[in-house]
This record gives sequence, structure tokens and C-alpha cells, in this order.
Amino acid sequence: MSQYWTDLVHQLDPYTPGEQPQDQQYVKLNTNENPYPPSPKVIEAINAYDKARLKLYPDPESTALRRALAERFDVTAENVFLGNGSDEVLAHSFQAFFKRQQPLLFPDISYSFYPVYCGLYQIDFQTIPLDSDFNITIDDYPKENGGIIFPNPNAPTSKLLPLMAIEQLCRQHSHSVIIVDEAYIDFGGDSAIPLTRQYPNLLVIQTFSKSRSLAGLRLGYAIGHADLIEGLNRIKNSFNSYPIDAIAQTAALASLADDDYFRQHCQAIIDTRDNMTAQLSELGFSVLPSAANFVFAQHQSESAEHLYRALKQRGVLVRYFNKPRIDNYLRITVGTGEECEHLLDALKSLLA
Ligand code: PMP
Repeated sequence: MSQYWTDLVHQLDPYTPGEQPQDQQYVKLNTNENPYPPSPKVIEAINAYDKARLKLYPDPESTALRRALAERFDVTAENVFLGNGSDEVLAHSFQAFFKRQQPLLFPDISYSFYPVYCGLYQIDFQTIPLDSDFNITIDDYPKENGGIIFPNPNAPTSKLLPLMAIEQLCRQHSHSVIIVDEAYIDFGGDSAIPLTRQYPNLLVIQTFSKSRSLAGLRLGYAIGHADLIEGLNRIKNSFNSYPIDAIAQTAALASLADDDYFRQHCQAIIDTRDNMTAQLSELGFSVLPSAANFVFAQHQSESAEHLYRALKQRGVLVRYFNKPRIDNYLRITVGTGEECEHLLDALKSLLA
């Protein structure tokens, strides 16, 4: 509290990220990072970068990187917007599209940054309950709204909404912007990006943080109709013209160029997830079907809060949300096979 703060600052309820302990002693399965390092080609590109060039500002338009993403997704560079992490892309999108007469809609259980952006930009919102199996039911979304946003797969539930439902939403709400936050799509879902060619109200947001092992680089992007991208550029160029630093642009290009590495490591995580799901089930957990690099699981007898604390004591960090409907679930990031064994061993000893 300070007398120097504006009323808005007094009212803010900021997002709390998962713990990032600075000592390396935990098996860290709490923030959905990728357990594998980025592609060796990324490391090479960073090492080879001419550091003397850091005296210059980076390309404010990230032209080469937007072109590479456009090529990958079969769109044009005018359909691509880049930001400092997908969180920044989300923030600009909230400001560009969602402050309306009618409330923004999102699921009651979804990414907890959404209400924070609403607080920052003073956007009215209404949450729409997931059904009892934690599915998004598109018919529950009222016709009158100021926009719709949800993660797909949803976080923290890990459940996927089929593309057909997304297409139906775009059609039913053609006067609203629909944002699909695909932070986790590469671990088992089909992206809605192809639908952006058909639906000018659809914006799809992805990130280099998860499937490309580059959370520390801070790079996210949106793909949509050129008019939506122009709206985002107007916000970006009223805020920070250079959100993507020169090294990040170089490293991201190298990541996109190494498709084999990308595919192999996504597949490794999918395989480990399926194995971990089976073993958690044997230990008495019910695990929601996951299309992400994390699972959402509830134990038949032990409380999630107890398990979270006991695992932490044993050196394993997972995420626990003390929130209605999900306060008996743990969100567990899929690590390497070895990290998952560590988690399962710790659980076996606690549950014995
Ligand atoms: N969307 C969702 C659903 C997320 O879980 C996250 C990660 N916390 C993000 C977006 C943001 O990721 P980043 O800013 O690292 O791209």
C-alpha cells in the first residue's frame, strides 16, 4: 500500500507464477516447462550470434521470424504477431479486443492470468462453468458477449476441445473475437490455425515456451486475420516497439528450422505422459485424459494439499491450486522418464 499508487494499482490482484526455486535441488514438475534442453541448433545459433551487433536495436517487426512462422503455418507474414512470451500477446489481445459493453467469457476453470488482465484493463468478464467432467460446453456460451477466450487444451485440466466445436463457436459468435490459447497444443491436439483463414474473428496464440523448450527466451505469437494483427500492432507500437530481442529472434529461427528435434521431443513427452498416467492410476489417482505436457489428477483418499506438501518435502515440486472445484487436484508437469520415476517413487513411499 502506498499513497503514491493510483486507484488502479490499489485494485490490482496480480498473477502468482509457480515457484521458481533458485537452488537446483527440486525435481521441478510445477510450471509446465519442457524437461529437455532446446535444440542443439538453437544453442549453436546463440553462440554464433555476433555480439557486437547488440549495440543496435533489433528488427522491430521481427520480419524474418514472422516469415518463418507464416511459412510453417501456411499463412502470410501479415497474419503473424510476435510478443515477449504468449503472456504479452495475451495482454495486448485483451486490450485490443475485449473491452466492450458485454462481458468477456471464459471457463470457470482456466488460465488464471485471464482475470488478472481483466483487472488491469478494466474489462468485465463472466465465467462459464465447465461441465462435471471438466469439458467446455459451447452451447453454454451466451450469444451476447464481448469476446470468448479459453486455452486448448485447457489449463489446468489438460482436456482438449475438438476443432469442430471451435469452428461452431466462431460461426455462432461472428461479432466477437474468439481467442484460442494453444500454449500446449503440440502435445496431442490439432491446432485451430487453419480455421483462421476462414474465420476473421478467430485468433490463435502459441508459444515457444513449452514444446520448443524456450520458456527462458520469452517468445509467443498470434495468428489470425490481418485486421486482428494490425490491431495488435497498434497496441504493441504504443507500448514497446522492440519486444523481441535480437538473440531471441535468431534462436527462434534456429528452433523452427529443426523440425526433427521438435517432433521427437514432443513425442517423448507424450510417451512419458501416457506411462505416468497409467502408473498414477495404479497408485489410486484418477487422471483426466491429457492432451498437454501435464496431467491433472485426484487421489482416491489423500488430499491434494497434503500430497503437494509431502512431495515438496521429498524434493518434488508439483502445482496445487487452492480454488473451488479443483482444490483436490494436483497439476503435475510431465518431466523426463527419470523425473517421473522420482515422482512415482516419492508417491509410493508416501502412500504406503
Ligand atoms: N497460456 C497458458 C494456458 C499457459 O499455461 C501459459 C504458461 N503459464 C501461457 C499462456 C504463457 O506462456 P508464455 O508467456 O511462457 O508463452
